[in-house]
Amino acid sequence: MAITIAVASGKGGTGKTTTCANLAVALSQFGKDVTVIDADIAMANLELIMGIEGKPITLNDVLSGNADIKSAIYEGPAGVKVVPAGVSLDSFKKARPERLLEVLSKLDEQSEVLLIDCPAGIGKEALTAISAAEHLLVVVNPEISSISDALKVVSIANRVETNVLGAIINRVTEDSSELSSRSIETILEIPIVGIVPEDTNVRRSSAFGVPIVLKHSDSPAAQSIMELGAKLVGKQ
Ligand code: ADP
Ligand code: MG
Repeated sequence: MAITIAVASGKGGTGKTTTCANLAVALSQFGKDVTVIDADIAMANLELIMGIEGKPITLNDVLSGNADIKSAIYEGPAGVKVVPAGVSLDSFKKARPERLLEVLSKLDEQSEVLLIDCPAGIGKEALTAISAAEHLLVVVNPEISSISDALKVVSIANRVETNVLGAIINRVTEDSSELSSRSIETILEIPIVGIVPEDTNVRRSSAFGVPIVLKHSDSPAAQSIMELGAKLVGKQ
């Protein structure tokens, strides 16, 4: 049985996919056998960040009943196993999201850690992923709308008894208009497990399809994600 962690958010675009891809590589570098799945089937882009786009069989094919999950697992950077969702609209249309739960339980047997890149919000697919996972990481940006939406995700997780590991505050700058990590912790009532700064290397790495922890390992965002990985494996 794997340790399953759903990486979710209230608002879209907070940095779930970036976090998931890089945390997967970080955990792999700490010696864990890691699988990461793109459960955001409508807005799939994990494969782009991991540099494995255009694979013939994807999660969408599995969800449409046309393939077995084993044939949709690919080796990504640093030995991470990646299940891409497929970016084509056609394959998305055929997918039946209600099969996600079954897919996740099968993947559970595949590795030590299973990271689930969730869709934003509390729609059906996000809820399936959050309730199937043992643990939740919620990715927020330091602004009130992001935190207010994250509150709903945290309360859903509590309701379905998924353990909330904490929040990752992503895209932090020095700007005084930002909410402090202490305020965010107070509002969400969960620990802040990571603070990742705004870093232009994130976009640069995405353009190359190489996670930032590999492409620009000395950059501030990469270092923060490595610290988070270390914390999760108990090496810090
Ligand atoms: P989500 O999966 O939550 O929609 P993404 O991981 O796709 O979010 O990130 C959304 C956008 O924000 C992307 O363009 C990504 O490059 C950018 N981004 C994410 N994290 C950072 C960061 N720490 N610094 C700068 N840009 C970031
Ligand atoms: Mg995403």
